Amino acid sequence: MKISEIFHSIQGEGVLAGVSSVFIRTSGCNLRCTWCDTPYTSWKPEGTDQSVDSVLAVVKEFGARHVVLTGGEPMLFEESVTLCEQLRALGHHITIETAGTVFRPIACDLMSISPKLSNSTPLHDPFWSLQHEKLRLQAEVVSRLMSLCDYQLKFVVAEPSDLAEIHPLVSQLNANAEKVLLMPEGRDGATLNERSIWIAEICKQYGYRYSPRLHVLLWGDRRGI
Ligand code: SF4
Repeated sequence: MKISEIFHSIQGEGVLAGVSSVFIRTSGCNLRCTWCDTPYTSWKPEGTDQSVDSVLAVVKEFGARHVVLTGGEPMLFEESVTLCEQLRALGHHITIETAGTVFRPIACDLMSISPKLSNSTPLHDPFWSLQHEKLRLQAEVVSRLMSLCDYQLKFVVAEPSDLAEIHPLVSQLNANAEKVLLMPEGRDGATLNERSIWIAEICKQYGYRYSPRLHVLLWGDRRGI
């Protein structure tokens, strides 16, 4: 599987924000979000092919119980299934971060699904704009992923009007509002803070959960955090 980076940090987003975790970042994505914060795994994918055994050996060195399999899109790789089976056998807590466009029957403890809204479409790129629109929302795949284990639905929100896309999807998926997380789009503290204020009000109104981006607030827009 193609790996961009493996590093130890704290989980910055979602219900496990603040938890010490090892991140395995695969490289390669079937989407091209205009605001992608890891373009080195999507627009210009970098990385090396590594075996499951070599990934496990690196994870072991960090000694953390929580492991986050992220990307890029980790569900593109068949080896992700074997990797998670083996991590599970070693007693790790596994979070999978996915956009929810590819299904695999995979072992995990938290399926963190981030369905992409129209604010992610790369309008500057006609080819990828079409591809992205075709693939970005697949409610049936999301629903199957939600049935595998505990889940969170994490939406990247840029404008209050994004809620017009979120509400119907939440309803279609019959998702528990407390498992719906709204997270500000932004790659710097000032943007995140400005958006967080009105997003928090929306969360109060609809019973959704606010998600920070702690890693950006702590370390800024950097790799390996
Ligand atoms: S799905 Fe994730 S990795 Fe892929 S382009 Fe969008 S933000 Fe980047």
